[in-house]
Amino acid sequence: MGWVAGGIGMDKVHFGVMMIANLEIGYLTPPVGLNLFVAMAAFKEPFSLIVRAVVPFIIIIMLFWLVIVAAWPGLTLFFVTEPPGTGWCGGMSALHCPVRTGVLTMSDLGGDLERLAAAAARADAHHEFIPRITWPDGVRMAVNVTLDFDAMLLRRLMNETPSQLAKGEFGGRVGIWRMIELFDSLGIKGTVFTPGRIVELYPEALRHVHAQGHEIADHMWEHHVPKDAALERDHLRKAAAAIRSITGRHPVGTRSWHSQALLQDEGFIYNSHGHAHHLPHYHRDPGTGKALLNLPFHYVIDDAMFYSFAWLGSGNAAQRISDPDRVCDMWWDAFWQQYQQGGYLNVVMHPFVSGRALRVAMMDRLLRRMQSLPGVWFPTSEELARHVLAAHPAKEG
Ligand SMILES: [Zn+2]
Repeated sequence: MGWVAGGIGMDKVHFGVMMIANLEIGYLTPPVGLNLFVAMAAFKEPFSLIVRAVVPFIIIIMLFWLVIVAAWPGLTLFFVTEPPGTGWCGGMSALHCPVRTGVLTMSDLGGDLERLAAAAARADAHHEFIPRITWPDGVRMAVNVTLDFDAMLLRRLMNETPSQLAKGEFGGRVGIWRMIELFDSLGIKGTVFTPGRIVELYPEALRHVHAQGHEIADHMWEHHVPKDAALERDHLRKAAAAIRSITGRHPVGTRSWHSQALLQDEGFIYNSHGHAHHLPHYHRDPGTGKALLNLPFHYVIDDAMFYSFAWLGSGNAAQRISDPDRVCDMWWDAFWQQYQQGGYLNVVMHPFVSGRALRVAMMDRLLRRMQSLPGVWFPTSEELARHVLAAHPAKEG
């Protein structure tokens, strides 16, 4: 996508408009005629020879650029102004000016930085980190293996094609069973974050997950959180009820964008979302002042980032079908670094992504290698949350 910049130095004696096209094919000719045009407008004799000769030429150039701007989808016109004394942001140097839609000044940038610093300070104030996390006796490091059981729901939300929906269905028909079989074969307990709608679609698979001793936690009713507060509560309650219909008990964990106050109101003890730290930590709700435990994950340990072809409708240039051995090496390095520090790793997988045979085989190798070291703990997210809440409770709000 290209862009066109027009600079208007309103504070300057020379008023000018520069239009510069920076298209992906390279720079098109930057017409400088508009400076001249405006300079000529100051002439005492508007019908002088030079005006009659040059003005039509300049008008043609202006029309040419207007047609380019109008006809090129995604091409945006920016105006860049500067306060007096900062120098005119013109010519090719306009390309290096802070550019965004609308009018931008250097003092705007200063204001932006101040707002950014204030937002960072506010965010900091709402987080409570655990400087020296400890695990149960004999445990050196904790690993949560977690499944986001989205199946085809996420694809439907994104209005993706039938072939993508079918890929999601694989997660419900095959992937979830394979992943649970893998965890069971290794004696590892995992957590399945599931949307309520998926509980309705695949109750048999989830009954099996529960029967094998794995945790089932919330992943929103339809994989999104409504803006309306009453509807949001309704969604969360429906999702919890769906899980209760399988497990017989209220879920205590979630991986969601639900508002923290509502989650705590509804009896949730942890969220596994966001990545303000690599260790479990607390987030304090600015309204209620209550702290909620977060079990963070990061996209570098998320299978979809490496394997999901056409992820979220991405174009060809963004496709990813990584070699499982490469992913295995990267994830092992992350594990090993945390193992040395006595830390934590949250592995995020999607049954429709990691449930494919070659990736199940990779996870089998990786998890076995982790298990070969002493002191590696694979609890459910709930089990880990309860340990942290007891061993490292949040400070009084
Ligand atoms: Zn999801």
